[in-house]
Amino acid sequence: MGPQGEPTPRLRCATEAAALDAVRDTSDVDVTSLQTQVARLEVALDNMSQGLCMFDHAARLVICNARYHELFEIPPLRLRSGMSQEDVCAVLIAHGCYPPSVTVDAILETTRASLQAGGAMPILRELVNGRVLSILFRPLKDGGWVSTFEDVTEQRRSAAKIAHLAGHDALTDLANARALREEGRALMAQTSALAPVLAMHYLDLDRFKFVNDTHGHEAGDELLRLVAGRLQAVLRRGDRIGRLGGDEFAILQRVPTVHAALEFATLLVDAVSAPFGLSVGPVAIGASVGTATRVGLVEDLEPLLHEADLALRQAKLSGRGTTTLFDPEMSDLARQRRSLEAELHVALAAEQFELHYQPLVSLDRDRNRIVGVEALVRWRHPVRGLVSPATFISIAEETGLIVPLGAWVLGQACRDAAGWPAHVVVAVNVSSMQMRHKAFAADVFAILEETGLAPARLEIEITESALLDESDTIMDNLNRLRSAGIRFAMDDFGTGYSSLSYLRRFPFDKIKIDRSFMQDAETSADALAIIRAVAGLGASLGITTLVEGVETAQQLAMARAEGVGQAQGYLLSRPQPGAVIADLLKQDRLPGD
Ligand code: C2E
Ligand code: CA
Ligand code: CA
Repeated sequence: MGPQGEPTPRLRCATEAAALDAVRDTSDVDVTSLQTQVARLEVALDNMSQGLCMFDHAARLVICNARYHELFEIPPLRLRSGMSQEDVCAVLIAHGCYPPSVTVDAILETTRASLQAGGAMPILRELVNGRVLSILFRPLKDGGWVSTFEDVTEQRRSAAKIAHLAGHDALTDLANARALREEGRALMAQTSALAPVLAMHYLDLDRFKFVNDTHGHEAGDELLRLVAGRLQAVLRRGDRIGRLGGDEFAILQRVPTVHAALEFATLLVDAVSAPFGLSVGPVAIGASVGTATRVGLVEDLEPLLHEADLALRQAKLSGRGTTTLFDPEMSDLARQRRSLEAELHVALAAEQFELHYQPLVSLDRDRNRIVGVEALVRWRHPVRGLVSPATFISIAEETGLIVPLGAWVLGQACRDAAGWPAHVVVAVNVSSMQMRHKAFAADVFAILEETGLAPARLEIEITESALLDESDTIMDNLNRLRSAGIRFAMDDFGTGYSSLSYLRRFPFDKIKIDRSFMQDAETSADALAIIRAVAGLGASLGITTLVEGVETAQQLAMARAEGVGQAQGYLLSRPQPGAVIADLLKQDRLPGD
């Protein structure tokens, strides 16, 4: 049957001929059975899901089935058996089946080439009606051939969809990391006098985690989509963008100068800094960008990505909302960090850590009496000498080594303190990662039991960020330890987000005012006002206050005048090795003012 339902009479005789052909070799065939066979063959042909046509040795059409007409959307009467292949092609072209680029000669040529190659490889053709056909040419013994036409439009569409999904980030529909590398090839290979500089911008959102944590993942997803939209809006023609994962994006472009690249990086930061209207309400975030550049042709994108990543880390360190250009020194720093990371793993087993202690001094009634000491860890590196915790604590946190290291610090500090006068408290810094372990409280109890230190003589210093993640495990550990009589100090107060709310969430015994406030107190009325306010708040809540970083006699006098309870700083004493501290504690008091 043809596409409109009518039979295709003109082809019937051709079909019979073909059927006769097909049975030519068989003997003893009577005419009725031959007719039955022809009828069957005809039904079979017209019900094939594939389009089919057969040409003889002189390239004349023998038969073609209904599906063939359907696929090309041509009326059944237009093709007659006996037409040359050239004429068949001309009909299809005249009917507008093929895009204009396809000519009769081209089709003949393709057919010839395919038949010569044995016809094993299908040829894909896209028709103007949107169909995609997979065509096979099978040579016949007599020099003719059969062509089959399979509609692979759907297959192709889903394959394209899969390819799109594999190359695109489903959330923002931007290219993913792999696709960006792929798309970047063109930009790498194409430099011009006007835009010789290839720039890679690595962008990371500031405060995204905060939005995600406080408003939930849906708000986070919504935000990422909006960010993607804003970034796309600042791109110029030819720029490539991708989402590398999480809240990280990369933009690759050709620009005239390195300066232009940096200007563009600033545009990216600006685009993200205006508030976003999310369903949950407006939120303000920001972005940092690291930029790396190359002049001329670029063969490998990886070093550029790596440099942009290093520059981004630097941008993040120098504050939020900044852009930073890669500098070779950053590679040295990163290399150093990696080697430290490797060495840190052996340091614990090799007993390269030691504790120094810095006195905590009471400012009220007992003038300058040492009421406690803070344990500060040091790494005695065989080559580098004494390494500051400012260098290695963050690496230990990233690698998880902080857990065994922190346990060692707690054990050593309690052992040392057990030998000191009974009124001296030992303060130990504890990372949130340690407290996220269920067994943390139990481990502390075991250490106290083993060393015989009274729980009230241990003070645990944590920063607000430890409470930020509000995990049940952390809260559970804190509460168990506190019920046992262990004290808690909030460290670096004033450097975090919304410090006061944490005081409500957990009953701290002490607030340590970050040393940046003491540093500024002499010149900034605001800093001094904050010290005053915290001292007043502490007094009314019954929480001890301490100022960190007291370096001058004048600062000490100010702290005392504002009613701060305790002080710590180089003026009073630098952190000292355990043996020195044991001697100091015998004197009990420090010279101060
Ligand atoms: P932190 O807890 O704020 O410790 C106080 C830091 O300020 C110490 O640096 C101390 O030497 C320094 N400091 C004390 N007085 C003054 C002063 O008058 N002026 C100035 N400019 N600085 C002063 P340190 O020992 O380098 O420790 C740095 C940070 O490393 C500590 O800051 C703490 O966050 C972390 N840390 C140290 N030991 C440990 C530890 O055992 N575990 C963990 N998790 N972190 C530790
Ligand atoms: Ca501390
Ligand atoms: Ca501190």
